[in-house]
Amino acid sequence: MAIAGSSSIPSVGEEEEEYYGFESGWVEARTSCDHLPSLCSDLTHIPIPDSPCTRCQNPSENWLCLSCKDVLCSRFVNKHMVHHHQETGHCLALSFSDLSVWCFACESYLDVQAIQALQPVYEVAHLLKFGQRPPFRTIERSKPCDPQKEASTSGS
Ligand SMILES: [Zn+2]
Ligand SMILES: [Zn+2]
Ligand SMILES: [Zn+2]
Repeated sequence: MAIAGSSSIPSVGEEEEEYYGFESGWVEARTSCDHLPSLCSDLTHIPIPDSPCTRCQNPSENWLCLSCKDVLCSRFVNKHMVHHHQETGHCLALSFSDLSVWCFACESYLDVQAIQALQPVYEVAHLLKFGQRPPFRTIERSKPCDPQKEASTSGS
């Protein structure tokens, strides 16, 4: 006569909904972030998007830490990326599921198209995931901007 393991006080979900979505359902991606200096200096070599979580081996839809290139699972799996942020302070992460970039410190998505520092890694991830470059054009040093240059024609 084993009693099924459902012996517990019926205290269900206290405000659990708060954890889902963001206040108004959708937050706009930021076009700037103060934490970009924490980006890894070499983001041209990153793990493939199929890489499992380094802690629990969750196979897909993981996050790539953009500071140390660790692959960690999302808050919907075992929250290893969240824990990683709490443990190390690394706050920038790229989602291997949709290639969006999240800043844990800003608590916001970052607009990859508006933030040049994120474009190289986005492009590499896009290539690895889809086999082709992202729709927007890469920065190819189209303009060697040199504000120092004075328009003074000091000839003769
Ligand atoms: Zn930030
Ligand atoms: Zn994990
Ligand atoms: Zn990290």
